[in-house]
Amino acid sequence: MTAPAERAHAILSASSAKQWIHCPPSARLREQFPEETSAAAEEGTLAHQFCELKLRKLFLEPGMPEKDYKAGLNKLRKGKHFSTEMERYTDEYRDYVQQIAYQYPSAPYITVEKRVDYSYIAPEGFGTADCIVMYGTELHVVDFKYGKGIVVEAEGNCQMALYALGALQAYGLIFPIDTVHFHIVQPRVKNFSQWTTSVRDLNAWAETVVRPAAQKAYEGGGEFQQGKWCDDCFCCAAGTCRARADANVPVLQAQVDPATGKMKEEALLTNEEIGKLLPLLMMAEPWIKKVKKAALAKLLAGEAVPGWKLVEGRSNRSLTDPKAAYGALIKAGYKKAMFYEQVPVPLTEAEKLITKEEYQSILAPFIVKPKGAPALALEGDKRPDYVKDSTPEEDFGGANAYKKGDQP
Ligand code: SF4
Repeated sequence: MTAPAERAHAILSASSAKQWIHCPPSARLREQFPEETSAAAEEGTLAHQFCELKLRKLFLEPGMPEKDYKAGLNKLRKGKHFSTEMERYTDEYRDYVQQIAYQYPSAPYITVEKRVDYSYIAPEGFGTADCIVMYGTELHVVDFKYGKGIVVEAEGNCQMALYALGALQAYGLIFPIDTVHFHIVQPRVKNFSQWTTSVRDLNAWAETVVRPAAQKAYEGGGEFQQGKWCDDCFCCAAGTCRARADANVPVLQAQVDPATGKMKEEALLTNEEIGKLLPLLMMAEPWIKKVKKAALAKLLAGEAVPGWKLVEGRSNRSLTDPKAAYGALIKAGYKKAMFYEQVPVPLTEAEKLITKEEYQSILAPFIVKPKGAPALALEGDKRPDYVKDSTPEEDFGGANAYKKGDQP
């Protein structure tokens, strides 16, 4: 199985392609930061190892003795970040790939954890594709995402496009591929996104967009440009980047009333102004969080950030040994029921404790999904428009709403 270390990253990595294509100098900027890992990254690596083992058993090594397969699973189950839900989510990935494979009249060519080389278009560029399926003129690139913070779209996905270009380099002479399907399998947020493009369009994009950006990025040239990629691609400089500050600070400063030094009242803005301002503020929002995080990290590392210091944040009191503490109260004459309550665990917790079949057959009939609260989205957002089924009065609490003159 692929060891985590073998999933090394190129300077022009596929996973950060969206970032270096839009902001070429960010690729070399990364070299100034130490390689860091996180619990989420380690969890994702473990989940990928489950995926690989399951696909190997299903497609590449169907003769794998059951005891070896079980031993492999058991070894992974000992991983620090293992949870029973990981088994279910990686089963969903295996089933998804199986559906792709079974749509063809005979067995397609399948490879997993395939290192693909796209250095002909981006210097030293390579990456590891989770799964590649080929049959006749069709190529499928499947990417498993275990994270749930950012919902990843297959359409125009730069990472998958580079994997596809690498796969075409490796197999283009053997398979007469003309159509490429991108698949994102992100089961924790029920995101199964697909997109299809032609090899002709893919190659045109590679030549006109990737090649010039890659050359600049590799040489450390080009213009800094902030955008969704700063946070979506986890740019190391996200909190300390001068280009982001240069772009965001004037936007925020324009909202400060020079007479009072305070933020201008929103009521003074017209709807048009609010509409124009929101995308800029939304761009600045994650940047503000990253700047705070960077400042905290620097102070914790002993560096000085002029004008700032570390203090102890808020904390809540807690019992060192609740069982012993409440036991002592019960011994003193209090009723046990006063200190213990039986409450159902949240649905997400229950889901982790049971099998996929039990979820479908026992739990699913009890599940309802209430209408979500209205949320702001840009006009081009693909989600359907919010349908209002309440009156403006109800939106603000109906008859119980606070009225002017009420005592708070
Ligand atoms: S934070 Fe954004 S603008 Fe700055 S280097 Fe990274 S990708 Fe470029």
